[in-house]
Amino acid sequence: MTPPPLVVAYHGLGQVPHALDPSGLMVPEESFRRQVRRLRRRGYRFVTQSELARRLAAGEPVDGLCSLTFDDAPQDNATVLLALLDELEVPATVYACPGLLGQPWPFIDPRTQIRLCDEAELRRVAAHPRVEIGSHTRHHTELDAFGLDAAREELVESRRELEELLDIEVRSFAYPSCGYSADCPQAAREAGYTSAVTCGPRGARNLPYEMARASPSPPDGPLTFELKSRGLFFGARDLPPVRLARRALRPLRWR
Ligand SMILES: [Zn+2]
Repeated sequence: MTPPPLVVAYHGLGQVPHALDPSGLMVPEESFRRQVRRLRRRGYRFVTQSELARRLAAGEPVDGLCSLTFDDAPQDNATVLLALLDELEVPATVYACPGLLGQPWPFIDPRTQIRLCDEAELRRVAAHPRVEIGSHTRHHTELDAFGLDAAREELVESRRELEELLDIEVRSFAYPSCGYSADCPQAAREAGYTSAVTCGPRGARNLPYEMARASPSPPDGPLTFELKSRGLFFGARDLPPVRLARRALRPLRWR
């Protein structure tokens, strides 16, 4: 049976101790490899976010399609990610904040010294044939409290800045911290995007401007990854049998 469409949300790829990355934003390269191979075995074919959105809008079948997405554009996206996309022969969509280029990544411990891609690095990412660049607002602005006009301005301006900087067309958007108000989906459509993605328990697979994503994090073992990528994680994680199973499988978890 062909699996339903899937969007996966990552940030950076690499090894960082949990104490320095409590939100689990850095996924080890080997975990990423295994996850992509696992999805391929389940029958997924990989497309960019804008291609997934195009097919959805055209009424074409989207079952069996998977879009791999990366938020924030930390600096490894210009090196590790590009090499892995070539190795695994998959495309990806990278959501960048044009107002934060080259700055320290605010969501990880400063001791890691991980910063966001600077302008030259983001150009390199954008020039890679397997990569689509999307917007993540100018300054990682969370849009939860934004009305239509304010959200539209942030969506339009961040898109314009990226398009001018990189000389590309930007069609895809990711809500920072996955937050958005009721006006944001309409604002994203009016700003010219073809999709906007969220994560966590919000959104749905077939809503183009509130598209749900699965978010793997470093300690996820095969069971957690399966639940997340099948859209079952938020419903299942609190069921007693799942808690027991996760505890039992903990020694087998990928690192
Ligand atoms: Zn982000």
